Amino acid sequence: MFRCSNQASAGAGAGHATSDRARPDASEATGPNHETMKTFDNFIGGRWVPPVSGEYFANQNPADARDTIGRFPMSGSADVELAVESAQRGFDEWRRTPAPARGDVLRRVGDLLSVRKDDIADLMTREMGKPLAETRGDVQEGIDTAYYAASEGRRLFGHTVPSELRNKWAMSFRRPIGIAGIVTPFNFPLAIPTWKMFPALVCGNACIFKPAEDVPHTGHALVEILLEAGLPPEVIQLVHGVGEAAGAAIVNHPSIPVISFTGSTETGRVVGEVCGRMHKRLSLEMGGKNAMIVLDDADLELALEGVLWGAFGTTGQRCTATSRLIVQDGVHDEFVSRLVQRARALKLGDGRKSGTDVGPLINQDSVSKVERYIDIGQKEGADLLCGGRRPEGLDHGYFFEPTIFARVRAGMRLEQEEIFGPVLSVIRIRTPDEAFAVNNDVRYGLSSSVYTRDVNVAMRAMNELDTGITYVNAPTIGAEAHLPFGGVKQTGNGHREGGWEVYEFFSETKVGYLDFSGALQRAQIDNYLGTPD
Ligand code: NAD
Repeated sequence: MFRCSNQASAGAGAGHATSDRARPDASEATGPNHETMKTFDNFIGGRWVPPVSGEYFANQNPADARDTIGRFPMSGSADVELAVESAQRGFDEWRRTPAPARGDVLRRVGDLLSVRKDDIADLMTREMGKPLAETRGDVQEGIDTAYYAASEGRRLFGHTVPSELRNKWAMSFRRPIGIAGIVTPFNFPLAIPTWKMFPALVCGNACIFKPAEDVPHTGHALVEILLEAGLPPEVIQLVHGVGEAAGAAIVNHPSIPVISFTGSTETGRVVGEVCGRMHKRLSLEMGGKNAMIVLDDADLELALEGVLWGAFGTTGQRCTATSRLIVQDGVHDEFVSRLVQRARALKLGDGRKSGTDVGPLINQDSVSKVERYIDIGQKEGADLLCGGRRPEGLDHGYFFEPTIFARVRAGMRLEQEEIFGPVLSVIRIRTPDEAFAVNNDVRYGLSSSVYTRDVNVAMRAMNELDTGITYVNAPTIGAEAHLPFGGVKQTGNGHREGGWEVYEFFSETKVGYLDFSGALQRAQIDNYLGTPD
């Protein structure tokens, strides 16, 4: 990512919400595909507008860094200020729109995402790197989330309960909160923003959305679809930029009472400190160090497929990626040797080319981080069985070979810290209980998995593993839109995304009492049985 000088004058990007808002800029360089580089704007105040600073950053294809996708606004607190003013107007309108009508907008969003699935997958692979099958899956999660959100517009249940007193009704119902700040990571450029924004919108909130700086084009496409589906323009604001400026300005703004953040545990700590100080409602979804446990009685072929997908899918850049493999003594040697053969055969390459199994890492910083951990692992005494380096012949992208370390001991840094790349650490154990203990002895707790044919052991694993999700005979990755998703310990702060639980997060519960006795009934005092009729 690099800064470009401003080529756009203020207001140059303003226009109607539903048109293609990318502006060709002939003065800019072109990528290897010889397309003219485009300039994209923020969406603030119901219009596409350039950033107040006039500065832009370039977004590159991680499979070929010579391919620059476009220039995106480098926004800061002045842009966020304008976004808040507009979102406040949007909120005042949207909160009065009946929830089923809000849900209807999301249904149309689902329809549009379905029609454009392949196009969005293609642009997402170009800016994020994972193969097309995976980016199609990413869009599909957005579609599922949209239809689920549409149906929730007709529920948003409260409760009616009996009152303690006679001739009195008691009920709880949901109210929107206000402006929701949505800050998202690079690895699921479409799905994660939809997990947050769609429920926030159905609950009646306005959103200010800052996508990760490595994937702004997908964020742009998503906002275009929301507008085309009929979302009132001031209900959504898109503010591009880097975390320390645009992200921090959103988190710190006093008129944004609710923040939903997904990203690293380190960034989440900074966000959490601010929100705690400012008494904001905050949902944090953060890092993971997920383990797959393979026991002696497992179906080894199934487990092999599972670990390859779990560890090296999305180049290991999933919050739920399998980064630890805990294998029981009896099958350890055979399983690991088969795994290494299969990992070596995975085909690295551009995710837009057919036959690619593993795409690039997101950027040079990620490559450097993975390289640091290869060094750390070797110094700690682990055995590097395969990978551990950048592949030959893919010099223009951020590729890294699928890497497996064996003889990893519980407690090593390699085993404890999130690497977020295609690096798998294998730990040998003797018993299921030892496997559970190793699984739990990390600061994270997102996902876990156990391969066994013993139903008793499987059920014990469900109870014993300290993670938000446990899979039996399936890898650690994956989520379904209608089930709560999230982690424990330093992966999350107790909230969940997806499912019905996220609607709790994005709404306030209010209680209404209706006393039709015609007399003063004193609740919580001494006449528990109420005033006689
Ligand atoms: P990141 O923490 O670097 O960035 C996440 C977002 O926060 C980006 O939009 C970034 O611009 C913004 N940001 C950075 N500094 C900020 C600040 N000071 N104030 C406000 N915003 C700021 O994470 P990433 O590299 O994009 O994503 C990878 C991380 O996300 C991994 O740790 C992964 O495990 C985690 N993740 C977790 C889940 C989950 O559901 N638990 C899902 C996906 C990714």
